[in-house]
Amino acid sequence: MKTVKGNLSEILNGIPEGIKLVAVSKTMPPEVVQEAYEAGQRIFGENKVQDLIMKHPLLPPDIQWHFIGHLQTNKIKFIAPFVDMVESVDSLKLLKELDKEAFKCGRVIKCLLQFHIATEETKFGLDVPEGEALLESEEFKSLKNIQIAGVMGMATYTENEQHVRQEFRELKRIFQLFKYKYFPSDAGFSEISMGMSGDYPIAIEEGSTMVRIGTAIFGTRQI
Ligand SMILES: *Cc1c(COP(=O)(O)O)cnc(C)c1O
Repeated sequence: MKTVKGNLSEILNGIPEGIKLVAVSKTMPPEVVQEAYEAGQRIFGENKVQDLIMKHPLLPPDIQWHFIGHLQTNKIKFIAPFVDMVESVDSLKLLKELDKEAFKCGRVIKCLLQFHIATEETKFGLDVPEGEALLESEEFKSLKNIQIAGVMGMATYTENEQHVRQEFRELKRIFQLFKYKYFPSDAGFSEISMGMSGDYPIAIEEGSTMVRIGTAIFGTRQI
């Protein structure tokens, strides 16, 4: 029988050391998250504020919670006290609000800029000129309580491996461009979050530093 623990160790055995695994626990009940925690997993990804604030107090305090979904500015205050990283930043407005709420908590929140690399229209994210405009703005430069830790992207959902590979390659290229232009001496700008259950081996071949895996750990989601 497939267990969360078994799935986790299988995945961890197959990915090179140093690549971070975000266990995407969205829709999974706290007991199941606890099971993964007991198997040694510490980074978990959630995509709904409501679920995150429900689970957080029920689970061990050393979990690093990553927010990976679409975030509304009016809900940031609920997760700012504890969220480790917001992987899905796609506007200056969001960054400013994250900064404001992190300041109130005396914290620095790590953020990834989400880029739109897929051909699917439905997916969120910045394009390169939008990312550049954000990082070049005076408003951005004044923010002290957020730290840009890298980039995130989702590839198109397709069987076409070459297509997916090209999109991951594009995200790596964006990372390198932004590193060179905006963060040349900032070791904190280091993450390329790409790869999910169906495509993470390709993402790793293309330079992923952080994979976000749900179904392959927890099984198919019911909702
Ligand atoms: C759901 C989700 C994942 C994980 O997807 P799986 O296919 O279940 O591994 C990764 N990233 C984001 C942004 C997600 O919403």
